[in-house]
Amino acid sequence: MTDQSNYLKAAYFTLGCKLNFAETSTIGKILSGKGIIRAAKGEIPDICVVNTCSVTEMADKKGRRLIRSLASRYPDATIVVTGCYAQLKPEAVAALPGVDIVLGSNEKLKIAEYIESWLSDRRKRTEVTPVFSIKEFHPSCERGDRTRFFLKVQDGCNYFCTYCTIPYARGRSRSGVTEDLVGMAREAVAAGGKEIVITGVNIGEYGKDNGQDLFSLLRRLDEVEGIERYRISSIEPNLLTEEIIRWIAEESRAFMPHFHIPLQSGSDAVLKLMNRRYDTSLFSQKIKTVREVIPDAFIGVDIIAGARGETPEQWERSLSFAESLDVTRYHVFPYSERPGTKALLLGDAVSQEEKHRRVSVLTKISDLKMESFMRKNLGTVRPVLWEHPSGEGMMHGLTDNYLRVQAPLDLAMINTVVPTLLESIHEEEHDLIEGRPAENMI
Ligand code: SF4
Repeated sequence: MTDQSNYLKAAYFTLGCKLNFAETSTIGKILSGKGIIRAAKGEIPDICVVNTCSVTEMADKKGRRLIRSLASRYPDATIVVTGCYAQLKPEAVAALPGVDIVLGSNEKLKIAEYIESWLSDRRKRTEVTPVFSIKEFHPSCERGDRTRFFLKVQDGCNYFCTYCTIPYARGRSRSGVTEDLVGMAREAVAAGGKEIVITGVNIGEYGKDNGQDLFSLLRRLDEVEGIERYRISSIEPNLLTEEIIRWIAEESRAFMPHFHIPLQSGSDAVLKLMNRRYDTSLFSQKIKTVREVIPDAFIGVDIIAGARGETPEQWERSLSFAESLDVTRYHVFPYSERPGTKALLLGDAVSQEEKHRRVSVLTKISDLKMESFMRKNLGTVRPVLWEHPSGEGMMHGLTDNYLRVQAPLDLAMINTVVPTLLESIHEEEHDLIEGRPAENMI
C-alpha cells in the first residue's frame, strides 16, 4: 500500500453549471498529476479549491458564504478561488477571509503553477486576464458519475443578452477542434463511459470561431463505438437547426430524444429587451418540428420570471405562450439584477413579491406539463440506463427521453441499458417513475 500521509490533500467545491463541474474535475486531475491528492470525506484538506458561479446575485452570495465557512472550518488550508465570480469580482473575492489565490477564467487550468508559487513564497496572488483578451480554449471530458461524462466543446459567448454576465466572465466564444473532441470521447469509452453530455456556454456557436462545424461534430461523435447515449446540454433555439433535429430523429445512432432549449420569455417585446435572437414564432416552430419528428422527446425549457421591464401585459402574453407550448418541463428562474448588465437600464424592476408570484405560476404550469408527459409514457417500454444503487435496495436510471426511473436493485444491470416497463409515478417523488426491467417480466 502507498503511504499517502506525505501528500498534500485538496478538497473541491463547485457552484453553478455543468461546465464548472467538468472543469473542477479537470482541475482535480491536473493537481493529482502533481501529487496533490483528493482529500477523503471527513479529512482536513491542505488546499480548498472553490470554482464559483456568478449567474445570479444569489450565486455570488453562495460563493461568499461557502468561502467564509471554509476559512473558518479549515483555518490552515490554502484557499484558491476561481470561476466566473472570481473573474468578475477579483478584488471582492481576494478580500474575503482566508483567500490566498484568486484565478480568473484563463488562469483556471493553470492552477498547479500558482499553487507551486504559493507553496514556495506564501505570497497572496490575484491573477485575472481581462476577459476579452482570452483566446485559448481548454477542452475537457470529465466523469460526472459512474456512467456519464461531460464533454466541453465550446466556451464563452458573443451574444450579450442584456441580463447576462457570462460574456464578461467567460469571454468570447471559442471552440474545440473536432478531431480532439472525438479523441476525448474515445478516451471516455476506455474509462467505462456510456453516456456523454455535450457541454458549452453557447453550444450552437460551436466552430464559428475556428472553422469547425457543429453538425459534423455531432455526426463524428455519433460514430464513436461504445458511447450509447449523447445529450446536448442546451442549445439556443435559433441555432438548433431543422437539419440537426431531423438527423437526431432519423439517422443518429446515439443522440437521445431530449432537448434543452432556452426560451426566457414568451413575449416578443421582452425577448427584444433581452436582446435574444429569435421571436416566439421561431420558438414555437422549433418545438413543432421536434414534436412532429420525435413525438415522445423530452423538451426542457428555461424561462425567466419578472425580467426588468416586463409589464403586466407582457407577462400575461408570456404566460399564455408558455402554457400553449407542447414542452415537457420549464426551468423557471426569477430574474436577477446583475451589476454591469444593460438590463439595469431597461424599464422598471418588477417587485420581489410579484416576481415570486410569477415564478410560482410558471412552476405550476411546468408541474402539470411534466405530469402529463410522464403519464403519456406510463405503460410503455423504454430503454433505461441503470446508473447507481439508490439505497433501500433500489436502483436509479434515466430513460432515453430523460425520465427518472427506479426499480429493485439488480447489480448486474448497473451501467447497462435495459428495456424497462414504466409502471407508475412514485407516490412521494412526483418526478420519479416506478419501473420494471423487461428482463424481469414474466
Ligand atoms: S446566449 Fe445570452 S444568456 Fe446565454 S450565455 Fe450568451 S449572453 Fe448569456
